[in-house]
Amino acid sequence: MSSSSKPSAKVSDIDIEEQKPDTFLDQTLRPASWNEYVGQEGIKNNLHILISAARERGSPPEHILFYGPPGLGKTTLAHLIAHELKGSLRATSGPAIERVGDLAALLSNLSPGDILFIDEIHRLSRAIEEVLYPAMESGALNIIIGKGPSARTLELPLPPFTLIAATTRVADLSAPLRSRFSGGTFRLEFYSQEDIEQIVKRSAKILGVKIDKDGIKEIAKRSRATPRTANYLLKRARDFAQLKRAPLTQNLVAEALAMLEVDVLGLTPLDRKMLTALIERFQGGPAGVNALAAALSEEPETLSEVHEPFLLQLGLIERTPRGRTATLAAYKHLGLTPPRGQTLL
Ligand code: ADP
Repeated sequence: MSSSSKPSAKVSDIDIEEQKPDTFLDQTLRPASWNEYVGQEGIKNNLHILISAARERGSPPEHILFYGPPGLGKTTLAHLIAHELKGSLRATSGPAIERVGDLAALLSNLSPGDILFIDEIHRLSRAIEEVLYPAMESGALNIIIGKGPSARTLELPLPPFTLIAATTRVADLSAPLRSRFSGGTFRLEFYSQEDIEQIVKRSAKILGVKIDKDGIKEIAKRSRATPRTANYLLKRARDFAQLKRAPLTQNLVAEALAMLEVDVLGLTPLDRKMLTALIERFQGGPAGVNALAAALSEEPETLSEVHEPFLLQLGLIERTPRGRTATLAAYKHLGLTPPRGQTLL
């Protein structure tokens, strides 16, 4: 057993790879006001108009959809909207709504002005989506009673509510569902270095972590431009510094993150494996995500939802109609020789 059991550091790697929400960390550090919610200015401005206008009319805002990679602040926006509207937020997720009855129970228990938050909405089944359409459009719950020729539809009026949905895979949403988010569909962007530095600074204050300016910069630089990852890395670096009985400086952060195998660009082992496979097994591509996933024994969704968006953002891969290709920057980052005819700058 001992030779095959993995060192404990791997547990942390898994968290990074899957970008799993750490519920406790998310809740402790979740911004409680718009001022604390850094960046995404365009979205914040649009939401402000939507909320103010709805409030003036005395009705809840129309339904809203947020999409983008994990950890960018979709759930936090839903909480902030609910807080601003002084309504209560009922949170659930696509996979948790297994049967039509689950959704019917959720909807019929809403109070006027409530916010229903459905995370991972792309995982709702079509049958459940069909119950959601009239609920979103005309505020009614259509329940079919009985079977066969004697079946009839009972229409129950619902209290006015706002559905806020989040997804990492907007392309998987059916067109009829997408069109019903009449309040707006907003794409969350990766954060700038400055914005992440501000987030790390605030989190360090809340967690009581002493960290210098360069230490903050180093964490921000390796955080995949993602607040959740930045908070996670801050916590891991804090643990490391604590055991070393040393202040959290740039060098110490670099040392701690090297132990987690997070490199200078913020790439994790799986990011690098994905790039290496693309270059070595598929001669730089193009390769489809399923073929890449099979080569790495990973889920295609993990690659396309978590890893690919950041590699695209960094310009390490490109998406073509025939699949993903590695760019020269990817060869350079991995220290590999590019194909003949292409030179590194
Ligand atoms: P998502 O729903 O997109 O996966 P969350 O809203 O759960 O992401 O965000 C994860 C964590 O990242 C939050 O708990 C919060 O601590 C932090 N965070 C996200 N967005 C911001 C932001 N704009 N400003 C400050 N912290 C943020």
